[in-house]
Amino acid sequence: MNEQGFSEKDIFSLLKRAKSKDTDYHKVLSSMCTSPHKIALEAHKMFLEANLGDLGLFSGTHSLEKEVITMLGNLLHAPLACGYMTTGGTESNIQAVRAMKNLGTTKKPFIKNPNIVVPDSAHFSFDKVANMLGVEVRRAALTSKFQVDISSMEKLIDKETVGLVGIAGNTEFGQVDPIENISKLALERELFLHVDAAFGGFVLPFIDPTLKKAAFPFDFAVKGVTSIAIDPHKMGLSTIPSGALLFRFPNFLDCLRVDTPYLTTKTQSTLTGTRSGAAAAATYAVMKHLGREGYRKNVAYCMALTFKLVKGVRELRELNVELLLEPIINVVTLRLREPARVRQILLEKFGWHISITRKPQALRLVLMPHTTPEDIDIFLKDLKTVLEEL
Ligand code: PLP
Repeated sequence: MNEQGFSEKDIFSLLKRAKSKDTDYHKVLSSMCTSPHKIALEAHKMFLEANLGDLGLFSGTHSLEKEVITMLGNLLHAPLACGYMTTGGTESNIQAVRAMKNLGTTKKPFIKNPNIVVPDSAHFSFDKVANMLGVEVRRAALTSKFQVDISSMEKLIDKETVGLVGIAGNTEFGQVDPIENISKLALERELFLHVDAAFGGFVLPFIDPTLKKAAFPFDFAVKGVTSIAIDPHKMGLSTIPSGALLFRFPNFLDCLRVDTPYLTTKTQSTLTGTRSGAAAAATYAVMKHLGREGYRKNVAYCMALTFKLVKGVRELRELNVELLLEPIINVVTLRLREPARVRQILLEKFGWHISITRKPQALRLVLMPHTTPEDIDIFLKDLKTVLEEL
């Protein structure tokens, strides 16, 4: 640390220099985050000092957080669901499994080495779960459509299993697991069922039903679902860090409580202590401002980009590129030769940021609100150039 403070002017020039090295979202097709809605930004700025770790001091901000949880509970078909705002999908997944472990091992006291069964497509946050919580994470195989294979899930369940996980909009393929079938299994075996809808939670409820090839029930309307992760800082257009974790029953939150002797409240169920009130205010503002209608428009826009990309890719068929999966949400995966090399050239020559799926390797593109139809035209032209050159 420097001995004497720098002037404001110097600080801002240092900040600007750092910011200029950041990638703006313009050519980013790899991220599940996007520029927040302007009302979210304004609300965030208004509540910068609000700390949701000390609820008694910030009761106004806490009322906004509670309203967000109520709005999300309504959206996900459980108006009485309880929960809190997290830093994102990772924290929500960790806390959901922590609740499964705490409740599961109390209910079945013989469980010494608890395990959970997740789809092989589960986000890497579940690797953190395994490491932090001492819960074994068993990965069930996927079908050819990248949904979890129920029989593989069933085979991995044993006496020490405390819960199952399904994904509504998986990170790599955008696929939705058969939550109703997982729910049946969970109810039969008396297991908890957490649904990771960190990305899909702000997409699936808003997709135009006439565009859906099938129904994808994923929320509390499915009887066996006990908790859901949903991230406002992804397709919810809020600021970072805005995640949310909802539980069907209050005993889940209760089992996470610790005493907080020197705060204005006596206990805390959250993972972090100090929490951003700004993110809660931002999420409240954007959800109230957009309403269901606004989110339907946002999803319609992203799905139109998705179909435009799909149409363009079909026209490049003779260059040996094809869809790995018919897109369910605004994630497109492309099977082609040498995906890693194609990705590298698209970045180095044309500035596109794209990612690659693991098994099998395919180009993965997420169509977010920061992308325009013109960007898709340019991307398709660039992709054609690269494929012709290879
Ligand atoms: N779950 C899913 C399905 C995700 O796609 C992601 C991130 O993309 C996460 C969890 C983790 O979310 P975060 O990075 O906000 O912790």
